[in-house]
Amino acid sequence: MDLGLKGRWALVCASSKGLGRGCAEALAAEGVNLVLNARGAEALEATAAALRQAHPGLEVRCVAGDISQPAVQAAALAAAPQIDILVNNAGGPPPGDFRDWEREHWLAALEANMLTPIALIKAVVDGMAARGFGRVVNITSGAVKAPIDVLGLSNGARSGLTGFVAGLARQPRLAGANVTINNLLPGAFDTERLGKTMAASAERSGQALEQVRQQRAQGIPARRFGTAAEFGAVCAMLCSAQAGYLTGQNILLDGGAYPGTF
Ligand code: NAP
Repeated sequence: MDLGLKGRWALVCASSKGLGRGCAEALAAEGVNLVLNARGAEALEATAAALRQAHPGLEVRCVAGDISQPAVQAAALAAAPQIDILVNNAGGPPPGDFRDWEREHWLAALEANMLTPIALIKAVVDGMAARGFGRVVNITSGAVKAPIDVLGLSNGARSGLTGFVAGLARQPRLAGANVTINNLLPGAFDTERLGKTMAASAERSGQALEQVRQQRAQGIPARRFGTAAEFGAVCAMLCSAQAGYLTGQNILLDGGAYPGTF
């Protein structure tokens, strides 16, 4: 199916690797011009080069820097003639025990995983509404539906974003102007981040890394981890011209791991 996105512009935050890169690749395959972002300039440029090579007709621009910094947000927004598609993403907060977290830890999590997406949404949605097309996809986490004990900073900050978005997406001045805002909730995806958390758990338990990977995968009904390409494909579908009636939703992509009916 042609997703009707050719010639659109997307800002995909935190997109040199992992799920963000998967979204950028899927949008590029639909003919979407891109602004990519990540802190590490080298990996960012390498991702951009790979995308330019695969899609010579597209514009792929890079803005290196921490997306939670207002100056980086401004540069990323200014890098495209207009933003038709915004994919919000950033690194997840570290695991730990809430007894060890101080105000500064909470503020960092809120900045990266709640206030930054809200600032970027604020910057783009009214322009999208004026042009009659806009798609916002926030990469959050399955932890919003089923909290993960050690990821309290993520559970809290992302739930805050989710509650805010639930209200905003339903504003008639946005929903009525073909501007949709949805959240994509990853379960376990085979990215660098997942590799790091499994390596840490292998070290803690003294088990071999492969054993930890297999045990974790066996706990998922799909019996495997998701891929960034699968994640990106669903992101592109949410951004499609055809998805204009789909807004304010939390789409869980977890191979069946969440056990509830709803
Ligand atoms: P990843 O493989 O570690 O990739 C993260 C990407 O984000 C990299 O390109 C990284 O590049 C960039 N990045 C990180 N912090 C950034 C910042 N402050 N500003 C700009 N770019 C930043 O991670 P992932 O697995 O794709 O995860 C993406 C998001 O999904 C995270 O928030 C994660 O917590 C969440 N999530 C992932 C899973 C999973 O199974 N993978 C499950 C649930 C939730 P630089 O380091 O160079 O900046």
